[in-house]
Amino acid sequence: MKRFDLFIDGRWQPARSGATTPSINPATGEPWAEVAAATPADVDAAVTAARASFERGEWRRKSGTERGAILQNIATILFDRADEIALAEVQDSGGTMRKATMADIPAAGQTFMYYGDLIAAQADEETFEESTPVPSRNIVRREPIGVCGCITPFNFPLAAAAWKVAPAIAAGNSIVVKPSPYTPVSTLLLAEICQQAGVPAGVVNVIAGPGPELGDALVRHQEVDKIAFTGSTPVGKKVMAACAENMKQVLLELGGKSPNIVLGDANLDGAVRGALFGTFFHSGQVCESGTRLLVHDSIHDEFVERLVEGARSIKLGDPIDPATMMGPLVSGAQRDNTERYVALGREAGAKCLTGGARPSQFSRGYFYEPTIFDAVDNSMRIAQEEIFGPVVSVIRFADDEEAIRIANDSMYGLGGAVWSRDIDRALTMARRIESGTVWINDYHLINVRFPFGGYKQSGMGRELGSHGLSEFQNIKHIHIGEPTGAAEKFYFGLLLD
Ligand code: NAD
Repeated sequence: MKRFDLFIDGRWQPARSGATTPSINPATGEPWAEVAAATPADVDAAVTAARASFERGEWRRKSGTERGAILQNIATILFDRADEIALAEVQDSGGTMRKATMADIPAAGQTFMYYGDLIAAQADEETFEESTPVPSRNIVRREPIGVCGCITPFNFPLAAAAWKVAPAIAAGNSIVVKPSPYTPVSTLLLAEICQQAGVPAGVVNVIAGPGPELGDALVRHQEVDKIAFTGSTPVGKKVMAACAENMKQVLLELGGKSPNIVLGDANLDGAVRGALFGTFFHSGQVCESGTRLLVHDSIHDEFVERLVEGARSIKLGDPIDPATMMGPLVSGAQRDNTERYVALGREAGAKCLTGGARPSQFSRGYFYEPTIFDAVDNSMRIAQEEIFGPVVSVIRFADDEEAIRIANDSMYGLGGAVWSRDIDRALTMARRIESGTVWINDYHLINVRFPFGGYKQSGMGRELGSHGLSEFQNIKHIHIGEPTGAAEKFYFGLLLD
């Protein structure tokens, strides 16, 4: 069995307690790796290493061009080591090999390339001359924030880490990353890759171990200046409250219950495909999944029939097999949670058209069938709460107004989509949907160049795009005045002569 230690201060280190925990392969329920189990003492060591590297300044004082070149190296090494990382990701998370090779590795590599380019092109300072009310020269500077704690979820371990690590270090920060205890390995490997690419020791540290204990220790650490958190809304609320203690800046990427709206004039083939992909990709363990499928009355029956047919054709299996479309859920707990919600849906009177059970062909692993509920009312718990499993709720609507009302009747606001042949009509709806991302005639397409994040209880702040870099920069204004004290004379008027 493989063994992975913590990556602190530029080297692999066992946990100070010597403890390890197995990482379970969700497809088999068996351990595939042994990973060091950190305690708050290791969190402290990692933060101390990050702080020391920040104070030494050998990373933050490099020019943007130099840091950018090293980010390009990270992408190159990541692509060189793609097979090893993809395999680790699949075994840790149960996500398919197709997802790892087509989505996770390219997304992570492109994120480093993009922020490498962006930081190389960005001026550290801009200068502005002002003449009123008195002459002055003004410099607006972007500075790194300091030590940033990055906490990531189990569903996109590598990509979620890259979305934080790349902009954070591009901006010159030193960081401590805490991946999900279910999926630590690709993030640990990423730290080693950063080191190989030329990032100095102590700038990127990764700790692995029990989530709440380590996460809380990182969030409350007085030497941490910012927390960038991706995870569930309930944990995000705890993180935000803890950050208030010493006014840490906080970026929150949280849960969702996104509306996927199919208008009567949609291309049905495309909309059915989009709905299946939008819900069952990665077994529904995607924050922006279109789990509330709003279907117009006029096409409902045909649409649902094709949807059920499509769901039944999804190939479940060993995630390593490139033909597998859906692997297992990440853990027994995640499957139990899905089962609990399916029971709640049935109790509430929703009609389970397909799925709703563990597939009979697997004797092990945390598999669950693609599940479609029809006759769902938006007030039901299966329509209001994030399930994070392969379950979609079909909700009927009569006109665009009703679709918008239902779409926005949610505490979440992360993603969403509109399917229509009439782009102007779809755009009008997209502008009214209270979500950070809305697709028209597509789903799940996230591009490193464009911002991603939530409205309402789906979070605050944005990752990706230039906004994602700004999240890791402090902005400073330096005013250079006249030696004669011109402002005093203008506003105050002391008679000193
Ligand atoms: P989670 O909230 O259980 O855990 C997220 C991370 O927080 C993990 O690393 C966990 O160990 C850590 N953690 C747990 N308790 C903590 C505490 N008290 N203090 C600090 N950290 C703590 O989420 P999960 O189950 O790993 O991931 C699924 C959730 O993440 C879903 O709600 C999903 O919607 C969300 N998510 C959001 C986005 C986004 O971009 N908005 C992306 C991916 C996932």
